[in-house]
Order: sequence, then structure tokens, then C-alpha cells
Amino acid sequence: MSQIQEVKEASDIVEIIGSRISLQRAGSYMRGLCPFHGEKSPSFFVDESLQRYKCFGCGESGDVLTFLEKYDGMTFAEALEELANRAGITLQKFTKTTDDLHREKILEVLSLAKQYYHYLLTDHKVGAVAREYLKNRNVTNESIKIFQMGYALTSWDGLINFLHKKKKYDLNLLIDAGLIIKGKTGRYYDRFRSRIIFPLNDHRGRTVGFSGRVIDGDEKDAKYINSPETVLYHKSKMLFGFSELYQEIRKAKEVVVVEGEFDVISSTQAHMNSVVAIKGSALTAEHAKLLKRTVDKVLLSLDTDDAGVQATKKAITALKETNLELRAVVIPDGKDPDELIKSDPKKWRDAVKASIPAHEFLIKASLMQHDKTKPEGKRAIMKELSPLFAQIEHAVELEHYVKLLASELGVKPESVKEDVDNYKNKEAFGKISKEKSAQEKSSQEKESEARENNAPTIDPREKLEKYILFLLFHSDKTKILRKVESLTHVSFLLSGANFVLKELVNFSGLFDLKSFAAKLPEDIQVKLFDIYSDQILLKGLDSLDIDKEWLTLVKKLKTIIVKDELLKITKELRELDDKLEKTDEETERQNILLKKIVKLRN
Ligand code: ATP
Ligand code: MN
Repeated sequence: MSQIQEVKEASDIVEIIGSRISLQRAGSYMRGLCPFHGEKSPSFFVDESLQRYKCFGCGESGDVLTFLEKYDGMTFAEALEELANRAGITLQKFTKTTDDLHREKILEVLSLAKQYYHYLLTDHKVGAVAREYLKNRNVTNESIKIFQMGYALTSWDGLINFLHKKKKYDLNLLIDAGLIIKGKTGRYYDRFRSRIIFPLNDHRGRTVGFSGRVIDGDEKDAKYINSPETVLYHKSKMLFGFSELYQEIRKAKEVVVVEGEFDVISSTQAHMNSVVAIKGSALTAEHAKLLKRTVDKVLLSLDTDDAGVQATKKAITALKETNLELRAVVIPDGKDPDELIKSDPKKWRDAVKASIPAHEFLIKASLMQHDKTKPEGKRAIMKELSPLFAQIEHAVELEHYVKLLASELGVKPESVKEDVDNYKNKEAFGKISKEKSAQEKSSQEKESEARENNAPTIDPREKLEKYILFLLFHSDKTKILRKVESLTHVSFLLSGANFVLKELVNFSGLFDLKSFAAKLPEDIQVKLFDIYSDQILLKGLDSLDIDKEWLTLVKKLKTIIVKDELLKITKELRELDDKLEKTDEETERQNILLKKIVKLRN
């Protein structure tokens, strides 16, 4: 058995899903509201024996691993690791290296540091100054709790005293964690002092670093400081708020990207909960990779100034390899979301609602920068926007922007299109070979799409076979293996069915669907689950005498098989008959077929 199977078998999908969403028993299933689409009556089913889930509303389905990937936003490896840890299984390829152990130690001290800072802010009298500061900035206690905010003392060694002197952690470990600094004179001191502390968590919610904002304004230090790059903290991957607000983000399928920690916090207090901060830096391809698993749209909150334009252009590039749609949330008067919300929370929600496509934002910004009434202004605008337009792959979308810009410039759309095409031609000149291979690939893709669209219709015999398998697996456990015996010599047309039956014949011991299914190949498991959980068939199950129905249907299938066989033989016989001269082999074959017919008729 592979380790993946081992981990899956040691896990209980009902327990894992049930700890995340509410499930009720409904017959042999657990049922709940689908977490993958909005619904009011439950069509999300979790099946204990096959260890799979399926939503009959939106079609999402999978096993315990895919659930963790989709719901918790883990990668496959992370989901596997999580389940293995729960089950106490050591994954071979995850045997811990010294690097892994070091990482774990760092996570441990970071978690303790978080608790320490949080305690000082919420429970200790020295935190009064920080509590006062946050109160003035309208940060609620709930926010403090959600984001596990904290306070770092004014002293040089508050954290060192706690983690090193008291908890006996090595100073080098604290340095590697980014928590303390070794000065030129060889003295160690706390990195974060006299600041509001924000834990920075990775997408799995593990604290990998901190940022801190000064609270006493007269300090010469930077307004914000962050953990340095460590083995765990990478600035280019950090999305503040992502893990804390993950479920809201996932449900919304879109996320607003703001600049700062306070923008995120204020936004949630203004009931805009699908929000993350890139902390003053650019949106990177790594951010995009993280987001594309969870949302379809990214709404970038920006100033209309040049920085906003540059940020949008960078974001378009960063999102290029994803299918993410990029929109711009424009805030008037150079305010940030936190300030806007302070003046009126509704204004922020309205600004988000009024988001515009990123391309439209760039067109607007370009029109504001140049004088569109003058020829040189028009030229500057075209020069700026052509590269942008050239990147738009969809003809209809491109036409939309071409028309928009043409009407703003007071020219014919054809002229705008011509400039864009000219730019494209120049660009493409050096890339001809590259483009060609891309084109070949796309024609192949088209072919496979065409094939998929031409899906075969379901044959009545396959439908019957499906029902028979459905009944088989919904039969009393003790009867299943005996029932299979009556199917010896019966060959199914349904893909995968013969395989399942053969495995059943070879099954020894007391039958148990869970362990039986776990040993099947993944694709067969999926097929089996589809049959097993067929909603239409399930509806009829309650009022059914399964054993009786089973006998009737198996008989029916056997009759159909005989008929099919007879038809085939008759056809072959006829062909042989039509031949005026037959070889000896053909005469022999004719005899065999005739005997077969007699046997089948009986
Ligand atoms: P506040 O509202 O607390 O004054 P802000 O979010 O308005 O902060 P900005 O100067 O607009 O502050 O910076 C945006 C974000 O960039 C900050 O929230 C912070 O995450 C990050 N940032 C700001 N200054 C620094 C710095 N010196 N070093 C690292 N990151 C910084
Ligand atoms: Mn601010």
C-alpha cells in the first residue's frame, strides 16, 4: 500500500470535514451546506464508507486530501503531511532533516513570542499605552484577538528575558527567527521595541514573522519594521490577513488587496472581510500563486497617482500566468482605506463595489496625465497604452478597450487598433519561432476540446449495469461477496466495473467498503463513488427490497447480455453464410457459432 493510501485509510473524512463545517446524518450519508458555493438547503454529501464528498449543487467532489486543498488552501503535500501527523504516520519522503527540525524550533519560538506580545497588550499593565493607541485608532478588542496583535516593550531585552533567560532558548535560534539582533559590540537586543506587533502568518496560519508599528510618534525609527528574511519569512510571499480571513476570502471568491495592516483591520471592522495587505510592497507572482487557488478576482486598492499606475502595471505582469481577473479600487483624495473608513465605512464599501478593470484604470490614468486634445498628447497616450493593449489576449475584450480609448481620443477605433497592431508586429518580429510553437499547441488543445464535447450518450445496458453496481454496494455487508459470485461470467461494458468485480472476488475476510475502496486506484474510486452516490438512485433506495431488486436486475442484465451475444453471433453467421465458398476454418467457425447459439438459447 502506498503511503498516500495509508494516510487516507488512517483518516476519517467525516471527522475532518465535520470539524470544519456542520454535518448532519441523512441515511447512510452525512450532509451539510456546501462550503464551495452559496446555498440554503444542503446538497453537500460526505460518504463515510467511500471516504469521499460530493456536492450535488455545484459538482465539487473529492477525497479528504482534496478537501483540505480546497477548503484549507493547502497544497497536496501539506494536506498529506497534516493528515499523516494527525494519524502519527511518518512519511518516508518527509523524514525530518536537521533543517526541518531547525525550522520547527523557529516556529516554536515565534509562536511563544506571539503569545508573549499578545499577553503584554491584552493583560499586562505595561500594555496600557498600546491599548490606548489602538483605542484611538478605533481598533476593537475583537480585531486584536482575530489578528493576535501584541505589544513590544520599550526595554532592550524584554523578549530576550522571556525566551532566553526564562525559557532557555538559544540566542542563535532567536537570531535565526529574526526576533533579536546582535549589535556591533556583541550585545544582543530585541528587534521590536515599543511597537504595536502584528504576527505575520503563512497561508497555513503559522506565525513566520512580525511587523511592528511605533506608537510614540517622536521616535526616529522607521514607522514600521518587519522581520528580516529568514528560512520561514519571505516578504514576497507575505499577505497580511490571508490566513486569518481565509474562509471569508474563499467564500467571496475575490479579494481586495490593500497596502497596510491597519487597512486590513479597518476594512474588516467595516464588514469588508475579504481583504489582505501586501505591506507597502508590490503584488508579486508568488502572491498570485497563493491567491489563484482561492479567488477568481483580485481588487487592487490604489491611489490614482503614478505609484498606483506603476503598481497596477506590475500587478498585471505578476498575474499574467494566472487566470486571475485584476480590478482597481480607486480611492479619491489620496486617502488610504483606513482613513477613508474612519471618515465613513460606507465610502470604503462603495469604493470596492465601484471597482473597475485594471486596464480601464490605466486608460483613465493615462488620459489624466496627457492632453488628449493635442496630437502629441494622443501619441504619448498610444505609446503608453499600446504595450498594455498588446497583452490582451481576448479579441472581444481588446475591442472593448479599443473603442473606449478611441471615443476618449475622438478618433476611429480602427486607428487605435492599427497602432496596437503595429506595436505588436514590431514586438513579435524577434519571437516568430516561439509564437509558432505556441500556435501548434493551441490547435492541439482545440482538438482535445472538440473530443470532449462529443461525449457519448449513455447506453441502456450501461445504465442497468450502473444500477446493479449501485445495488451491490448498498447491499448488506454480509451479502455482498455472495452476490458477486452470481456475476461470474458476466462481463460489464461499464468502464472500471470488471476491475471492481474482480477485486471483489479476490477480497478475503469480512467485507468492509472503506478498506476495500481505499485499495482501489484513484480513478476507479472516483467512478465507484459516482455510482454509489447517484442521487436519483438514492432517492428510491429507502422503499426498496434491495435483494429482490438485485435478483430481478441481474436476470435482466444476463438476458440483455445473451441477446447482445446472439445478435453478434447471428451477424457473424450471416456474413459467413453470404460467402459462396468457405474455407475449412470458416465451416468450422460456423459450427462453433451454431453450437453457441443453442447453448445461449437455453
Ligand atoms: P499607518 O496608518 O499606521 O500610519 P500606513 O499603512 O498608512 O500606516 P504607509 O506609509 O502608507 O503606512 O505604508 C503602507 C504599509 O507599508 C504599512 O502599513 C506597512 O505595512 C508598510 N511599511 C510602511 N513603512 C514601512 C517601512 N519603513 N518598512 C517596512 N514596511 C513599511
Ligand atoms: Mn494609514
